[in-house]
Amino acid sequence: MSTTTENKFQEIISHAKEYGFVFQSSEIYDGLSAVYDYGPYGSELKKNIRDYWWKSMTQMHENIVGLDAAIFMHPLTWKASGHVDNFSDPMIDNKDSNKRYRVDHLIEGLADTLREEGKKEEATALINKMDQLLAAEDFIALKELLISNNIKCAISGTANWTDIRQFNLMFSTEMGSVAEEANTIYLRPETAQGIFVNFLNVQKTARMKIPFGIAQTGKAFRNEIVARQFIFRMREFEQMEMQFFVRPGTQKEWYEYWKEARLQWHLSLGLPAEKYRYHDHVKLAHYADAALDIEYEFPFGFKEVEGIHSRTDFDLKNHQLLSGKKMQYFDNDIDPATNKPYGNYIPYVVETSIGLDRMFLLILSHSFAEEKWTKEDGKEDSRVVLRIPAKIAPLKLAILPLVKKDGLPEIAREIMNDCKGSFRCFYEEKDTIGKRYRRMDAIGTPFCITIDHQTKEDQTVTIRYRDTMQQERIPLAQVKEKVLAATL
Ligand code: ATP
Repeated sequence: MSTTTENKFQEIISHAKEYGFVFQSSEIYDGLSAVYDYGPYGSELKKNIRDYWWKSMTQMHENIVGLDAAIFMHPLTWKASGHVDNFSDPMIDNKDSNKRYRVDHLIEGLADTLREEGKKEEATALINKMDQLLAAEDFIALKELLISNNIKCAISGTANWTDIRQFNLMFSTEMGSVAEEANTIYLRPETAQGIFVNFLNVQKTARMKIPFGIAQTGKAFRNEIVARQFIFRMREFEQMEMQFFVRPGTQKEWYEYWKEARLQWHLSLGLPAEKYRYHDHVKLAHYADAALDIEYEFPFGFKEVEGIHSRTDFDLKNHQLLSGKKMQYFDNDIDPATNKPYGNYIPYVVETSIGLDRMFLLILSHSFAEEKWTKEDGKEDSRVVLRIPAKIAPLKLAILPLVKKDGLPEIAREIMNDCKGSFRCFYEEKDTIGKRYRRMDAIGTPFCITIDHQTKEDQTVTIRYRDTMQQERIPLAQVKEKVLAATL
């Protein structure tokens, strides 16, 4: 990361803490690595992102329904899904510092430095080589790649590496009170398996016909070794996943459909298209026949925010095998090739999987701006503003009486009572109006209204727009519909 991008990222992290968006977990005990808590405005923003996703998936798609499965699942789930055997990352330890690294992170770190030095082709060649070796699971050559590129441990400064080993990322715990009888169970590393094991329950009870989807949001846990970059990579995080069940043979077209539809979802928030790109996977996960990442240009470079995976019938087939329960669907549509119903089959699955916390970081990265300008009187002025898309802003409207007297607070309270059932409002009478505006800018509130003495005479208020800082007088009666129109 260059100094300017590093600075911008550090400023975003400080801002997130100072204004009640994100706190380090158990901060009074010096925190817990890669675990975070969301404060008053953070929890609102997170909920709004989740709701926006949920609505676009379920309410806007007649053939997608929701589910809320438990975090704990039968241990065989993770055997069937392949996570017990395959959910691991190649790791390497530095013998001098005893620090453990993910091999791909070490190599990506070097590639980032090369790019910053303008050596783009070298960086691409390095990443391509790494992808190739990862796909072949050739750990000897991968270690050679580290050594030949002189990649060193950031702490010891040496290249005294162990061999590369696989390290499973699942957290385990015990269920049951008596130790001898206790079963090892896992904290789910993805929400998807809750959907797969409930596939027939949902299909039958909601009377779904293929193609259809099941959407779910919830916590997932991964014992990430290199957990850095703030909430980008956490050990406890939240996913928003949708599994779309399709007829075998049609997965390619649904994969293309969801690839496009999911990018459009991001753009529908007003996020800039040039900050996005697709990245096709070279090394496919054990369950996939096609996969790509939707990447966003964070302050520390283009990184994955969402994955689109064509998971074939891998999961359902293995759950059928290990549980002994049929995971088949009867398709009574007529197959034009045979003139008979398609009949029984295990559906194929296309998955869309986005990290809620990563999306939150994306929104903060996009929104955060420091602005400086010269006022009419020649004096310098500045502000920090979060240009959060109005639809997901933590607060939609600030209601600010100019002074604490002359009946202005009473009018403001009336407006508050009229609006607070429809969207999140904020009332404040302390400090100068300028200071109050700045605080609202800093937490991304798109609209402020000021109630002054003129309001009493002509029932108008001053509305101030966060992004332009423009102010205009509008009738009080128009406030609610104006805010609703911009935020629904
Ligand atoms: P990465 O390569 O960054 O480790 P992944 O490819 O393992 O991610 P998936 O298993 O595809 O990720 O998970 C889907 C989404 O969940 C990711 O696109 C990301 O947004 C989110 N996610 C995964 N791991 C984490 C994590 N440790 N912290 C926060 N979000 C995560």
